[in-house]
Parts: sequence; C-alpha cells; structure tokens
Amino acid sequence: MQGLMQDWPLLVHTVLDHARNWHGSQEIVSRTVEGPIHRYTYTDLDHRARQIASAAHSQLNVGEGDVVATMAWNGYRHLEIWYGLMGLGAVVHTLNPRLFTDQLAYIVNHAEDQWMFLDLTFVPILEGVKDQLPNVKGYVIMTDKAHMPAETSLPNVMCYEDLIGEGDAEFVWPKLDENTACGMWYTSGTTGNPKGVVYTHRSNVLHALTTCGGDALSFSSRETIMPVVPMFHANAWSMAFSAPMAGAKLVLPGAQMDGASIYELLDTEKVTLTAAVPTIWLMLLQYLEQNPDLKLDTLQNVVIGGAACPEAMMRAFETKYDTNVIHAWGMTEMSPLGSLGTRKGGLQKMSGDEWWQTKLKQGRPAYSIEMKITDDDGKDLPNDGEKFGRLKVRGPAIARSYFKGEGADAFDNAGWFDTGDVATIDQHGYMQITDRSKDVIKSGGEWISSIDLENIAMGCPGVAEAAAIGMPHPKWDERPMLVIVKKPGEEVTKEQVLAHLDGKIVKWWTPDDVVFTDEIPHTATGKISKLTLRQQFKDHVLPTI
Ligand code: ADP
Repeated sequence: MQGLMQDWPLLVHTVLDHARNWHGSQEIVSRTVEGPIHRYTYTDLDHRARQIASAAHSQLNVGEGDVVATMAWNGYRHLEIWYGLMGLGAVVHTLNPRLFTDQLAYIVNHAEDQWMFLDLTFVPILEGVKDQLPNVKGYVIMTDKAHMPAETSLPNVMCYEDLIGEGDAEFVWPKLDENTACGMWYTSGTTGNPKGVVYTHRSNVLHALTTCGGDALSFSSRETIMPVVPMFHANAWSMAFSAPMAGAKLVLPGAQMDGASIYELLDTEKVTLTAAVPTIWLMLLQYLEQNPDLKLDTLQNVVIGGAACPEAMMRAFETKYDTNVIHAWGMTEMSPLGSLGTRKGGLQKMSGDEWWQTKLKQGRPAYSIEMKITDDDGKDLPNDGEKFGRLKVRGPAIARSYFKGEGADAFDNAGWFDTGDVATIDQHGYMQITDRSKDVIKSGGEWISSIDLENIAMGCPGVAEAAAIGMPHPKWDERPMLVIVKKPGEEVTKEQVLAHLDGKIVKWWTPDDVVFTDEIPHTATGKISKLTLRQQFKDHVLPTI
C-alpha cells in the first residue's frame, strides 16, 4: 500500500522560501571585499537570488545541468549565486583560490565549467590561469560598476550588478527532481588528482536538517551564526542552508580572517555560534592573548573541525572565555558533517575529567549517518574505544561515487565509503580519529597516532603549533619526530617538549627528535601538509640512528 502523504521534492530553494516567508526580516551581514559592511535580509536574498537566476538564464543561457564556477569569499553575492543557480537547476562549482594554478585549471576543465563568477580579489589569479581554460565562456566579476577593474585581460568580462539588473525578482523556480545535481566540490587532492563530489538538492536539504538537530548543532532563529569556514571549502559545513533553514541571523566574514577582523565581527554582530578549522582559532586566541581586556561575551559555541582540535585550544575557549567547543569531524564527501562532540543523554553525570577526554574525541554521528570501523580485510571491529581501524560511513548525504567514476575503490558494494581515516569508536558511540591512513606513523609494525602527539605537544608552554611525522628508521621502519613552531617571543626547548609528553603517552611513542621551524606548511583547506613536511625534512637524520 502506498502512503498518502504529499510528494514534496527536497529542493534547496524551499529552504530560502521558508526563510523569506517566516524570517523575512532576519539579517544577513557581510564584510565585502570592497570594504564596507553590507546588510540585508532573507527577503532581499530571495529577490536577488531569483534575479540572478533569471539573468543567468536569459543573458548567459545557463540552464539545468550547466556547471558554473565561483571563486569567492563568504558574502551575500556568493549566497545569491548559490541559491539562484541551484534553484535554476544549474550546478555551482566552488573553486578554492588557494590551490596551485595547475590544479585549478585541471578542476575547471574536469568539471566542464561554463561560466565563472569571481570576487574582485581573484581577478589576478584567473588572469594567470585563463589561457588554460578554453571552455569558460566568460567571467562575471562580483562587484558594481564603480569598483570594476579599469583593465583586465580576462575575456568576455561582465559586471555582476549590471547582470543582476537584467533579472526578474519574480522569477519562478523550475520544478526539478530532488536528485538533480546542485553543487560540485573537489577534494583537495593530497594524493593524486582532486576528485569531484556532486551534491544533490535532496542531500543538501537532508544534511541541513541533520545539522540543525538538537544533538547536532541545535540551530534556531535565536542564533547569530558566523561560518568562517569558507563557502569554497566542504559546502561551508552546510551553514548556507542550515542557518536559513533555522531562520538564524547570518554573518559572512569575507576575505579578512585574521584574529582582529574575526573578533570585530563576533563582537559587533553579537555572534552566538561560529565555525572554522583550528588555524583560524589559533589566530583569534593569539589576538585575544595580546589584548587581555577583550572578552567573547555573546559567543556560546565554537565549532572546530577539518583537523583535530588540540586540547589546549578547547581549554582556552572553555576556561578563559566561557565558550563551549563542539568538536566536529567530516569531509567533503559527507556534505560534510559526520560527527559532533555534543553530550549524549545519560552522560550528564560523567565526571569532569572523563567527560573532557570524551569531548576531545571527534564526536558521534547524528541520524542519517551510519558509521563503523573495520580492519584491512573489511572485517567489522568492536566499538570498545581501543581497537582502531578504517572508518567507513554511509547515508543519504554521503557520496556514492566521484564525478566521472573516479576513485571507485573507496566505495564498496554495500554502500560503505572508506573515509581514509583511522579511528576508534567507544561504547557510547564517540569516534576518535587517530590519523589519516597515509599519515599514521608505523613503528615496528605498530601504529602511533600523529594527532595524539600533536595535541599533547600543543599543550606545552611556548608551543604555538606542532606536527608529528614518521621519519625513516633502519630498525623500526619509522619513528616519530615533532616539528614545532614557537609562540612569538617565547622560548621552549626539545627537552621541555619531551618532558611535557612524559607520562602522557606510552614510552615507545616518545618522539626520537624535536625540531623547530618558523612555519608549518598548510594545505589549501587549512590542514597541516604532512606531505610537504616530509619532503622538507627528507634529509634530516634522527639522532637515534
Ligand atoms: P580535504 O579536501 O582536505 O580532504 P576535507 O575537509 O574534506 O578536505 O577533509 C576531510 C578530512 O579532514 C577528514 O577525512 C579527516 O582526515 C580530516 N578531519 C576533519 N575533521 C577532523 C577532526 N575534527 N579531527 C581530525 N581530523 C579531521
């Protein structure tokens, strides 16, 4: 027997319909690349999203299935383009401007991008790569006439405000199948070429519902949400959909992500929840340390993910600034949130220290995400918090394939996707990442977690950032080495770092060496680039050899 409920396709524009109908006067605040702070409402966003959809259709001939690239910061025009083009049935492909030009060219050509919308800031990058992009029909610069560059070598250039001026604010969204593609994100390609993940309307709506849930991020219209995580990185952790779905005020920080700029928006806009990778919070905490009178008065939650949240960072937010940290894990392939470290019912009585150890883990999955660990042969491992294995996931907002069928070996017949992460899951369901499978340090056949070493080292006074890598060793295969960046103006020695680790790790995990450097290299998505680091230290010989 068929049920008798309405068949309501889960389309992304329904999120904006809801925001406009019931939270129409709620604000969206953007720091623009031109300088000033811009303010408007969900009603304005709805009008302009329809306008840009209509203009892209009539002026650029963009229609269902066409892939259109954006290279832009978090801002209102970028949001209009997302909702407008997705609503039209086109596929928005966000480009990470931090990628090397060759990778950018590869991605644009692989995705078959037809048009490019770009922030003013990125004109030089695209001028440098345009000759490698023969299929891009033209470039729309996301600014008004007054700010258009006097000269540019980009072909077929248009001004965004002129283009949108041609559009109809009453444009009616076409009826689409909910499984229509709406967004394309590429993985950062630390191994091999980047691979395309293609989101559907349905996956984005379901994922936003999951994100808003009470045991996840618990969004509501009482919140002011600032995603610092860029819209070009992993679907902006769903916040361009989950915040409007909840009717929350949205603050978009634009290009300035230094401590002072982020603090200014947190403070003046009275942000209650913000989200980004640890490197951003490192900058904010350093800025706060340099300005001891500053407080985080309204900020209740900071979501930290994309890389492991060090204990020292969590403690700084919680004890000095009275701000709760939610540790999150996920990846582009998962839309991207996979698990969140919120407190589970029944664990209210867990003691301070035990809860602290649990909270530092990467969290537990919400409904719609299935998760398990297996050994190398695919045999399931127990959730005992001890055994670690390959972390596998499945669910309706998780990729079932990469674009053009690449990387097929990551997906098995039962629908499980191998995340490439190594993890434990404890009896309460909290998952802890011990490593990316390619970063794990293999000493004498046993695994050492580089993340654990880094987190503990980051708690040592004087240490700003730490990275652990496996160095070749004739007897043990690999032995751990720590690479440390000191806090500005502070001193710390190898002996002090080793003394700090002593007692907090098993003896054989003790790094064979500790070296100091001015800067640790990061990938385009803000993670420590172990690959670069291993190359940088390839001639370094451990003192234990
Ligand atoms: P990339 O394009 O760099 O792969 P993603 O954001 O999709 O960008 O990266 C996902 C990976 O980041 C995960 O597979 C995991 O290795 C790592 N990661 C994400 N969140 C965390 C976390 N909280 N702790 C440890 N590692 C994390």
